[in-house]
Amino acid sequence: MAKLLSGGCLCGAVRFEASAEPVFSGNCHCRDCQRSSGSAFTPAIFVQSDQVHIQGTVKYFESRADSGNAISRGFCPECGSQLFAKLQMMPGVLGLRAGTLDTPESFRPTLDMYTASAAHWDHMDPALPKFREAPVAQG
Ligand SMILES: [Zn+2]
Ligand SMILES: [Zn+2]
Repeated sequence: MAKLLSGGCLCGAVRFEASAEPVFSGNCHCRDCQRSSGSAFTPAIFVQSDQVHIQGTVKYFESRADSGNAISRGFCPECGSQLFAKLQMMPGVLGLRAGTLDTPESFRPTLDMYTASAAHWDHMDPALPKFREAPVAQG
């Protein structure tokens, strides 16, 4: 399998490689992403789970999205870096946080979602489509 994306946590205990193109890339500005990241939004890349190889121990924390669906955020138990997300509403795909990539410049977000809960100090690319909540809810 050809390696297309690779990355890891701050301390290096968790590493990942993906051998497929992302199925979806976007920025999520929801309050859960703000709280879990301590930042304005989550820059997320979704890849087929079976195309991602993870090395190291990952701890997952599960919460419920406003839709009622579960979302598990994966982080390194050594350094606390957030790396992954598993969404009940998107089975079979794994979310990767763009900031953990070895080449973060390869991230190409296609939209902004949950902009209704974005902070006033969260500056977005005006060229990207905006969704007040989940993109699926608005068609
Ligand atoms: Zn780590
Ligand atoms: Zn979010």
